[in-house]
Amino acid sequence: MSNVETEPAELRCGATVDGGRAAGKTRPTALPGVEVLTAREVPLGGPRAMLVRRTLPQRSRTLIGAWCFADHYGPNDTATGGMSVPPHPHTGLQTVSWLFSGEIEHRDSLGSHALIRPGELNLMTGGHGIAHSEVSTGRVPVTHGVQLWVALPDAHRAAARNFEHYVPAAVRLDGAEIRVFLGSLAGDTSPVHTFTPLLGAEIILGPGATVELGVDASFEHGLLVDSGDVRVIDTLLRPAELGYVPDGTEVLALTNESDGAARAILLGGPPFGEEIVMWWNFVGRSHEEIARAREDWEASSDRFGVVQGYPGNRLPAPALPNATILPRSNPPRRRPAPER
Ligand code: MN
Repeated sequence: MSNVETEPAELRCGATVDGGRAAGKTRPTALPGVEVLTAREVPLGGPRAMLVRRTLPQRSRTLIGAWCFADHYGPNDTATGGMSVPPHPHTGLQTVSWLFSGEIEHRDSLGSHALIRPGELNLMTGGHGIAHSEVSTGRVPVTHGVQLWVALPDAHRAAARNFEHYVPAAVRLDGAEIRVFLGSLAGDTSPVHTFTPLLGAEIILGPGATVELGVDASFEHGLLVDSGDVRVIDTLLRPAELGYVPDGTEVLALTNESDGAARAILLGGPPFGEEIVMWWNFVGRSHEEIARAREDWEASSDRFGVVQGYPGNRLPAPALPNATILPRSNPPRRRPAPER
């Protein structure tokens, strides 16, 4: 997916996000430990104008491990709220497409032409540069899922273009059904290579179900709730909220406190430890790098290649913000005070 904001802010991540436009809100929690990040709604452009709920990056937290972007969308009627994103570029990141429902046709400048379906990982690496398009096929009436980005570490951020597909088995543990698409959880390990240690898994909990997940204590984690009310450790998360759990935690206890099934995405990784600059669909290390990537896209440089078979024009880059954003100091470990 593309970030199709018309005036995207340039964000320094790994510190705190600059610019109020990008700010989300945090909700006060009864007890410290789990930080609740609420989503801001961002309209995607194009004829179908789908609305997404963005929980990363935001003012109080920009990264969870190398996870640097989390959009949650749907359930939408595919006919009026499906996905229609023309060819657009990426640098310095990997995109993770994970659907709960729907069917999206992916084309990229490697020549990949794939259908993205529920329960199947599609991981695209756009290190030095890649371009892709994503369009709902219209064959499935409901479009519902997440789009996640992973920042590449400095040593690998010019990695070659790649597109990988993996279908994890469903693992049962206590009252949970778990699909591990990246990393290891609940005795299952994804074979998909990552450039930093990562965890990515879908967790479905029956009504009232509880699961205790042993996790790597060197990882920080984020639980993005899709549906149901899920208690993580001591904090209740509502749909579209992202609960952040700092590193040092060995067991994540999850309980579905709603009457129906609950579904969530668990993300994790060791604190990234590098400051990155994000703007539009690019991850870099400086404003100059981002500006160069934009220039290269606008000049149709070989850096990004060509997406074949998309029936329409590619997405033009928005204007760069005029001011170069200066980094801020690192935020405190825990959110100091509620913002509302
Ligand atoms: Mn994209």
